Order: sequence, then C-alpha cells, then structure tokens
Amino acid sequence: ITASSNEEAAAKTAVDTGGPTIFDKIIAKEIPSDIVYEDDKVLAFRDINPQAPVHILIIPKLRDGLTQLSKAEARHGEILGQLLYASKIVAEKEGIAEGFRVVINNGPDACQSVYHLHLHVIGGRQLKWPPG
Ligand code: C5P
Repeated sequence: ITASSNEEAAAKTAVDTGGPTIFDKIIAKEIPSDIVYEDDKVLAFRDINPQAPVHILIIPKLRDGLTQLSKAEARHGEILGQLLYASKIVAEKEGIAEGFRVVINNGPDACQSVYHLHLHVIGGRQLKWPPG
C-alpha cells in the first residue's frame, strides 16, 4: 500500500468536527515544521508527504470557521485573498513562478484530510492535467 493510498483512506474517514487539528500545533510551533513564509495572517510550510519537488501548504493562522473552503462566508474574503497572494510569494521564493499549481481539497470526495483550510502549492516538475 502506498503512502498516497494511505492518505486517501485517512481522508475518507476524516470528518469536519470543527475541533482542533494538527495545524494548530504547527501554528503554535508545538510540533516542528519547515516554514518557508510567514506573516501575521498566514503560515506556509513544507508538506510532510510531498507530491512534487516543491509542495507547500499555506494556512490561515486564525481558522475562524474555515475548516474547509465550502464554509467560507463573505467576511472571509480578505483572508482568502491573502492566502492566494501568499501562494504567489511562495512560488517566487521557491523558484517555480513559471509553472506551479494551487490546489484546495474540499471535503471527503476531494480527499481533504485536515479540516483547517489550506492551499497546496505544488511545482518543480512537469504537472499533469487532469489531476487524479
Ligand atoms: O488536502 P488535504 O487535507 O488532504 O491535505 C493535508 C496535507 O497535510 C497532506 O498533504 C499531508 O501530507 C499534510 N500534513 C502535513 N503535516 C502534518 C499532517 C499533514 O504536512 N503533520
């Protein structure tokens, strides 16, 4: 069984409880992460199970109900823009601005496994389309 099918299996059983997630511990720096960008609103760190040479997660430091994108409300507009803008900053920092992908997995059918909104920034190799 591969790491990625393990992840799919874990994602199938993950539920949006609205409770704390592992990302709270990463934000609090209670568990280590390889941080590539940080400001007062967002944190970007390397995915522990990278799917490409560059695979970074960008998260809001304050979840504020954004367990998943489908929970977004009008008041989240600013942070959503900040997250997307941070993906551009991260892509530039990582030297992949010429070709990268930003992904949000929303809910079980998209294999979301952590219910704290996050953007995946993926690049550093030729990406295929359509994704799986
Ligand atoms: O979109 P999805 O919810 O599946 O993405 C969660 C991501 O968080 C996975 O790519 C997983 O490898 C990553 N992760 C991490 N560090 C952890 C737990 C999960 O980078 N401690």
